[in-house]
Amino acid sequence: MRCPFCSSFNGQVVDSRHVENSSAIRRRRLCLDCKKRWTTFERPEELSIMVIKSNNRREPYNRAKLREGIIRACQKRPVSAEIIDKLVLETENEIFSEYIMEIPSQIIGEKVLGKLYAIDAVAYIRFASVYRKFDDIDDFIDEIQKFKKGGS
Ligand SMILES: [Zn+2]
Repeated sequence: MRCPFCSSFNGQVVDSRHVENSSAIRRRRLCLDCKKRWTTFERPEELSIMVIKSNNRREPYNRAKLREGIIRACQKRPVSAEIIDKLVLETENEIFSEYIMEIPSQIIGEKVLGKLYAIDAVAYIRFASVYRKFDDIDDFIDEIQKFKKGGS
């Protein structure tokens, strides 16, 4: 796993434990290059569910994509990678406990929004303005990337 501080792959797991009431594992990691520490939340098994998009097309749920959308919304905001991982994990716990087989993409978006609201107002507004308008995480990421290229 890549170090979030210096991008080195030279990392080490220093502690691993189960997250309460979930199959997820919390890992404390140490980068051997820059010596910084960070925490990741991971699921040992890949759960699968189909996401129903606004155009009625289905695609497999993709955690990396969801995480990416949240990271973009939190860019330059005081939201740590640990908080983002937790947000993804909590959202997934809800997705997989409340839905079987399929889930509409806008439900996932609303779940994320409900949690982002309590974390960071700017990230919430960014996610809401783009996600609600496009109703699709792919379009959301594309749009944020456009903002990124256009601005600063
Ligand atoms: Zn590092």
